Amino acid sequence: MRAQDAATILARGHAYIDTLASPSMQGRGPVAGGDSIAADYIAAQFARIGIHPVKETYFEPFEFRVNTFPDSIKVALDGVRLRPGIDLLVDPASGSSRGTFDLVHLTREDLLTPERRAMTMGVVTGRAIALDLPPTRDRDTLGLYESWLKDLAYSGPVLRRSNGKLTWSVAQDALPNAVLEVRDSVWNDTARTVTLDVRNALLVHHARNVLGRVKGRNSRKVIVLTAHYDHLGRMGPDVLFPGANDNASGVSMLLNLAEHFRAHPARYDLIFIAFAGEEAGLLGSEWCAVDRPFDLASIRLLINMDLMGTGDDGIMVVNAKDQHEVYDQLVAINETTHRLAAVKARGPACNSDHCPFVKRGVPGIFIYTLGGITAYHDVYDRPETLPLTDYADLYFTLVDLIDAIK
Ligand SMILES: [Zn+2]
Repeated sequence: MRAQDAATILARGHAYIDTLASPSMQGRGPVAGGDSIAADYIAAQFARIGIHPVKETYFEPFEFRVNTFPDSIKVALDGVRLRPGIDLLVDPASGSSRGTFDLVHLTREDLLTPERRAMTMGVVTGRAIALDLPPTRDRDTLGLYESWLKDLAYSGPVLRRSNGKLTWSVAQDALPNAVLEVRDSVWNDTARTVTLDVRNALLVHHARNVLGRVKGRNSRKVIVLTAHYDHLGRMGPDVLFPGANDNASGVSMLLNLAEHFRAHPARYDLIFIAFAGEEAGLLGSEWCAVDRPFDLASIRLLINMDLMGTGDDGIMVVNAKDQHEVYDQLVAINETTHRLAAVKARGPACNSDHCPFVKRGVPGIFIYTLGGITAYHDVYDRPETLPLTDYADLYFTLVDLIDAIK
């Protein structure tokens, strides 16, 4: 019986993820109406399952500024075209540049001292800059690199050599010229020209959180389950970021749990929230915590789910130290069931949508899965390759946890 349940849960999970990460959802970002299509889809699922709106409708609207790239990105080094998404990404804060530019190659030594930097800046105007900085993990050095990059982007387009995999994100502002990150494997130290066709558009984007409530046996308190549904969208019409693991997987878990608790009421009411605007900086959850569509003081526990698609190495519980009773409960459940490879603990971290609530004193944890594929914020985070290794096991563990909370 259990085995069959697991198969059903997994099949539903796959179906939700396939839909949310399909090209028709446009990467659930601010371009091509992607996140709005996803919001409508999630609300339709809430209605089908029988979840009620928290207020008059399922939607909680808000707005934010976002930098977007509506057109195809075209980049060629010495006339040789690079493949956007694979060989290069535009910096999320990139501006627009069009034309063929002579390249000047700069290294750390050209910028390190204020004197050298002033001299360098004096002669680069009108050219494109190829910037090759040594890899570092040091935060101060990274901050310094960022400030150099910004300064240079005021004088002309910048190509930066990437030191690892290409990882995209979202920016709310834009620099005056194009800034590109170019993969190591196609970087050319002796390239003389770069041809660019990069256009950005800063938008005020209208987004919507999607909220629903399922009655429990007692409405004195609520347990809030959250997962952001937005992702990075598209970088021009040809480059799609499907966001299967981040975070179609979490939304699918949210919908699976909603269906369960609609049929089997929990001790307390459950509020399900699919957030928008996470990738631009936890904006949907921040807005929800400010807007307060329900009483934050009634929250017994908030469980945020992001990156639910692997689990080969178990799960991580963020904020486990502050919420040690909940963490101990999870560990105890797993000691009985042995479903998960490991239940690991981390201290507080403002790395997903639990954060705006935890900052305001709401008891909350954030769970993500560990191990498996490393595709993240890139074109390879696709449903076909997402393993969902421990998806059903995690689902049953969460059902047990929610049932155990007093
Ligand atoms: Zn995410």
